[in-house]
Amino acid sequence: NDKLLEVRDLKVSFFTPAGEVKAVNGISYDVNYDEVMGVVGESGSGKSVEAYSIIGLLQNPGKVVGGSITFEGQDMLSKTKDEMIAFRGKEVAMIFQNPMTCLNPVYTIGNQLVEALKAHDKNVSKEDAEKQAMKMLEEVGINNVEKRMKQYPHELSGGMRQRVMIAMGLICHPKLLIADEPTTALDVTIQAQILELMKKLQKQNHMGIIFITHNLGVVAEICDKVSVMYAGKMVEQGPVDDIFYNPGHPYTKGLLRSMPRVDAESYERLIPIEGSPVDMLNPPEGCPFAPRCEHAMKICLQQMPPYVEMGENHRAACWLRVQDCLEEAKKVDTQT
Ligand code: SF4
Ligand code: MG
Repeated sequence: NDKLLEVRDLKVSFFTPAGEVKAVNGISYDVNYDEVMGVVGESGSGKSVEAYSIIGLLQNPGKVVGGSITFEGQDMLSKTKDEMIAFRGKEVAMIFQNPMTCLNPVYTIGNQLVEALKAHDKNVSKEDAEKQAMKMLEEVGINNVEKRMKQYPHELSGGMRQRVMIAMGLICHPKLLIADEPTTALDVTIQAQILELMKKLQKQNHMGIIFITHNLGVVAEICDKVSVMYAGKMVEQGPVDDIFYNPGHPYTKGLLRSMPRVDAESYERLIPIEGSPVDMLNPPEGCPFAPRCEHAMKICLQQMPPYVEMGENHRAACWLRVQDCLEEAKKVDTQT
């Protein structure tokens, strides 16, 4: 069994003074060892929230209100706070867009890496921990590691800090890495380098990765499969090629159209998806994308569409795809 993480019908709500916001509204997916799943969607689609709930880092007033999260057969939602702390870093690590959220400005790089290791392996000696830390820094492409170990985060460039954060995330060899837009703030060259590096380390360690991003170029680069989120729902899911070449949901198509293409000379124009994101306090009845969808039909405004299988492990929640199925059935009917 190569299943690492299994999420089923996960629901996360934020209980605000203005009312309940269903930030994640019943999503299901698996991540296997050795597999990279991209999660795409605009900000506010719930893509970070669902990842934070896996590692027990949901901020108040966020709460898991339904569903299950199973990691190597263990029920994650029944773990205590202490169990979760032990679990983070060792089994699951998370890296963020802003490295300063995980690096402590008052400790040296070496100190932080050594402490991260010791937190998960009390028997490791200081020398051994230092050796491992330097090896990890080298692996993330940092030179002069002895000097770097003695430096503080502010003494490093942005790209270097990002690499240090990745080293922090990987030093305990987690089985699952959650990367929340980790390269967004970097320039394109460093971004490409870091993606290469993550791919390499992922293969080496057989890690599963959940890669959260709004950049489909990054998805094409690194992901095996993709989950597309809109207004707390997973509106489409599938192998990366299916999502790019045979998207089934109008929102996915919109994302692909709005994706900047790097051509020989320049970036093509961006075609934004029209309309504004859903008001999560008052979401529409039926399909959440209906107010922005050029294909919206009456039923879209009344009922959430079911998932329709479009291929192996490829499904989309859209009434158009239900229609396709019905037409297909009609064709078969008239042939026989
Ligand atoms: Fe558009 Fe209807 Fe499909 Fe929603 S279900 S994406 S509104 S066609
Ligand atoms: Mg986010």
